[in-house]
Amino acid sequence: MQRILLSKNVYACTQSPQYSCKRCKQRFRAIDNGSKSCRFHPELFSGGEVAKAIGFVRMSTDPKDQLKAVKGKTGLMRFWDCCGEEEETSPGCQLAYHLTYDEELNEVQGWH
Ligand SMILES: [Zn+2]
Ligand SMILES: [Zn+2]
Repeated sequence: MQRILLSKNVYACTQSPQYSCKRCKQRFRAIDNGSKSCRFHPELFSGGEVAKAIGFVRMSTDPKDQLKAVKGKTGLMRFWDCCGEEEETSPGCQLAYHLTYDEELNEVQGWH
């Protein structure tokens, strides 16, 4: 994230409290929180046997594509349930507001 240090509001900015996001674990300030600030995976990183994973829909319900996704793989496959990304560290597939651990604050601020 880039911060432009030109305005006289900077002092006020640096003084505003920081929160930890319960989704992406990043630190953020209320002032920086927008509807596309948080990038996350809405589902869990899980996985299963390749045989079970064949039924997993990877942006396509075409059996041909699904076969391609698991072809040549053996044993366990791990992936994000939401989007099928196989890297645990892959960037989130959804954008939303950062959420604090304080439900009441999320509510008041309209973060969701
Ligand atoms: Zn995802
Ligand atoms: Zn976040």
